[in-house]
Amino acid sequence: MSDPAARPRFRIVVLGGGFAGLAFCRAFRFPGAEITLVDRQNHHLFQPLLYQVAVAGLAAPDIAEPIRSIFRKRDDIHVRLGEVASIRLDERRVILRDGAALPYDYLVVALGGVTGYFGHDEWAQHAPGIKTLDDALLVRRRLLLAFEQAEIEPDPERVRELLTIVVVGGGPTGVELAGAISDLARTILRRDFSRIDPTRARVVLIEAGSRVLSTFPEDLSEKARLQLQKLGVEVRLDTPVADIRPGEVVLKPDAEAAPGENILRAGLVLWGAGVVAAPLARSLGAPVDRAGRLVVEPDLSLPGRPEIFALGDIASAKRPDGKPVPGVAPAAMQMGRHAAQVIAAELRARGDPASAPAGATVRDAFAYRDKGDLATIGRAAAVARIGRLRFSGRPAWLAWLLVHLVFLVGFRNRIAVLISWLYSYITYKSGARVVTGLDTPPGAEESGPPSAPHR
Ligand SMILES: Cc1cc2nc3c(=O)[nH]c(=O)nc-3n(C[C@H](O)[C@H](O)[C@H](O)COP(=O)(O)OP(=O)(O)OC[C@H]3O[C@@H](n4cnc5c(N)ncnc54)[C@H](O)[C@@H]3O)c2cc1C
Repeated sequence: MSDPAARPRFRIVVLGGGFAGLAFCRAFRFPGAEITLVDRQNHHLFQPLLYQVAVAGLAAPDIAEPIRSIFRKRDDIHVRLGEVASIRLDERRVILRDGAALPYDYLVVALGGVTGYFGHDEWAQHAPGIKTLDDALLVRRRLLLAFEQAEIEPDPERVRELLTIVVVGGGPTGVELAGAISDLARTILRRDFSRIDPTRARVVLIEAGSRVLSTFPEDLSEKARLQLQKLGVEVRLDTPVADIRPGEVVLKPDAEAAPGENILRAGLVLWGAGVVAAPLARSLGAPVDRAGRLVVEPDLSLPGRPEIFALGDIASAKRPDGKPVPGVAPAAMQMGRHAAQVIAAELRARGDPASAPAGATVRDAFAYRDKGDLATIGRAAAVARIGRLRFSGRPAWLAWLLVHLVFLVGFRNRIAVLISWLYSYITYKSGARVVTGLDTPPGAEESGPPSAPHR
């Protein structure tokens, strides 16, 4: 064990134990340097599988791992549970909500993003997004309770409304949520209810643009749309949302629509339309882009602050061709490894921090390696672009499954996840459908911090 009284020669504070923060900590080692890793959650969350928790396919612990246990063998890493309140740039200190002050020589800001509602934060309570485990559990609860309410509802018109689920946003999150909910209703819930017919649930995916998965090549977007339709999802393109109210979505009126036709009444409305940077980014006085992300230098440091790095979804980085680095897990991990290598090289060159300031060395620029795009749509339905290869359907779904399992490396329960997944896939039984907190009135549930747009 390191002596807590001895001051390390170099203090690195890492904010956020997500993909970027974790990759940084895994890659960074330097004699005499100590890392304090701060996160407001005690776990690292595998966000790509959050939708599986929301649709009762996986249980919450399957996709989360305590950060402390990930680094239990690293004496040079101190894990600190706490919420970052502010950063005092000139004093080089991070202030936590509980009052603690953490001094740093280098600061790594990897706080990720929050669900964004394009300036309509009031929509958050009526249309939750999924960004945290609390969000996913809230969605799962509201989803399953919509079917329960429909089961006891005498009015057939109201039953139809309750069994209408609207998903706003045709990006990867909206697509996977819509496909998985339709699949859940048609294959699993179908056998659970006696009065209602869950296979008649109407899942509507609303997208303001002209195609789903707009960051994918056009042919794959079209294949995704067709696969969604095959799964029973009603896809409505070129349909901007004007308002979201309790139990209804108001669409921008179409000139030809009759009055009231632009209102969709629903048992559940979900938001998958985007993510913005964690709000703390705007408080650093550094330039930010439209999504509030910190615009970084080629080495990923903040302009004029070579001792501060911004990584992952909170950073706005560019590729050499000027295209933005996407807000995906592999990019966040690559950024984490790059910053670790830059700081270690600099410490080696600096020797004594008093003699040479951070940034005194020439630093390598970050180069994003694009390995492709994968999006799952539902049971044996997905689209994939890997290098020049483009494919869809079952092969793409198998590629998606494989990649996500490989990514779960470090999760001790990887095999358990695979087994429970295969079990529900083969048997059409899903084990995570238990709802608790039924005494809480609907709408008054804890959803954690408002998760605000990103993917
Ligand atoms: C539903 C969903 C599905 C996705 N699917 C995919 C996919 O299939 N493939 C893919 O590549 N990417 C996917 N992504 C995107 C991917 O998850 C992100 O790009 C990635 O998580 C970014 O990593 P990060 O480290 O920047 O941030 P995060 O992983 O979000 O980590 C940020 C960390 O900071 C902590 N934090 C935030 N604010 C504070 C604070 N004030 N104080 C203390 N701690 C704080 C959080 O608790 C969190 O642990 C998906 C995202 C979502 C939401």
